[in-house]
Amino acid sequence: MARCNDCNKFRGTVAETPEVESIEIEGEGADRQVKVEVRLYLNCDDCGAEMLTTTAEDYHAADYEAFEGHELEIESIDVEAVEEGEGRKRTIGARVEYEIRCECQATEAAPLVSESIDVAGVPASDFEEV
Ligand SMILES: [Zn+2]
Ligand SMILES: [Zn+2]
Repeated sequence: MARCNDCNKFRGTVAETPEVESIEIEGEGADRQVKVEVRLYLNCDDCGAEMLTTTAEDYHAADYEAFEGHELEIESIDVEAVEEGEGRKRTIGARVEYEIRCECQATEAAPLVSESIDVAGVPASDFEEV
């Protein structure tokens, strides 16, 4: 329970759709990985106002050796909150779907890579007031 500044009551919270702050491909060759940073929100379960927030990041090994020589461009296409546990064990993370393309592809071509990355959950108690 936390106090909502909008309805001025102690309320429970619901996980809002996270925001992808950045997604990028880091490193070279076999050390290449996808790094994603998200901002997570917990909103008032009564009025929906943002109450608590935090950031989280995670990595996904992705050597993409098959695409050597391409200029890889990564883009997130969808994100959803992933909630697990209850009470003190409640955590909120995110699943980010992304696509990787190269400008040598026709725009309507299927992406070179279409995958998702799971951002490990953060305990609800670690969130800070908005
Ligand atoms: Zn409220
Ligand atoms: Zn290319």
